[in-house]
Amino acid sequence: WLLKQSALQDIRASVPVTRDGVEVELFANIELPEDTTLALANGATGVGLFRSEFLFLKEEALPGEEEQFEAYKAVAENMAGMPVIIRTVDLGKDKIATWQEDTDAPNPALGLTGIRLCMAEPSMFRTQLHALLRASAFGKIKLLIPMISTIAEVKQTRRHLEEVKAQLRAEGIAFDEAIELGGMIEVPAAALTVRGLLKHLDFISIGTNDLIQYSLAVDRNDDAVSHLYDPLHPAVVKLLSLIIDTANAVGKPVSMCGEMAGDPALTRLLLGLGLRRFSMLPAQLLKVKQQVLGTDVAALSPLIEAMCETSDSDELRALAAQLDS
Ligand code: PEP
Ligand code: MG
Repeated sequence: WLLKQSALQDIRASVPVTRDGVEVELFANIELPEDTTLALANGATGVGLFRSEFLFLKEEALPGEEEQFEAYKAVAENMAGMPVIIRTVDLGKDKIATWQEDTDAPNPALGLTGIRLCMAEPSMFRTQLHALLRASAFGKIKLLIPMISTIAEVKQTRRHLEEVKAQLRAEGIAFDEAIELGGMIEVPAAALTVRGLLKHLDFISIGTNDLIQYSLAVDRNDDAVSHLYDPLHPAVVKLLSLIIDTANAVGKPVSMCGEMAGDPALTRLLLGLGLRRFSMLPAQLLKVKQQVLGTDVAALSPLIEAMCETSDSDELRALAAQLDS
């Protein structure tokens, strides 16, 4: 085990490139600014997902703008010019803040979550955008919006963003005028309309945790059905293939920040589907990099094609097992 650990450390500084020369980016998912230390120690070259809601979960009240600004600025500075993708607050579902606890939503997973909550609470959203834009003067911050299901939500977000930018200009506060806006693809409706969404977004990031749960109608925290939560369900593979192919075809960056991206047993499948940007828990980075270094992507094509064709889970699983041989 110790030998294995030291071999992983050896690849820490190596560039993630496949045996046939395909370059890959390996970013970190973080929840607190101090997580950047672990991300950098494991060779991350960017933050692919900063779950900003953790700032909103720890106290009774909403975090103030200064507190948010300091946190976003710290991440940007710690990453020293590397890309830092900060997701706007994604509450609801599994993450309920103290001030939300009186919610009586009949089904929180299908309720006011992610961007929907931000649209319903514009002053909370604009305070966050103001803090994020201010912090963008201190590094390479990009914005990511969660749980989008319509183009209207993206357009509305852009309107808020433009208005907050105008406010900052009027206040004489520096920010990155060219800040990029990306969207999470984690609702099946967004996956199926991804071409249209991409016209309004600078990049996308696939949230497989939610995409799988909503596609298969399975809450994996529910013991009665968690065995049905399956990243290798043919429907999931087909959706991933559609999202990645479409983004690659229109030339917009696509990354994945759901847990699938950090599972070394799935790295070959994702590379074969055309994914080149992965974001994961810092502890997974070296294991995934090791997989990348040992993969010949071109050789995977026939198996990947067959995996995208089949609707039979058993057949798909058998094909997936061959990716490693
Ligand atoms: C996801 O849904 O895959 C994701 C990254 O978002 P979260 O896990 O925070 O819901
Ligand atoms: Mg999600």
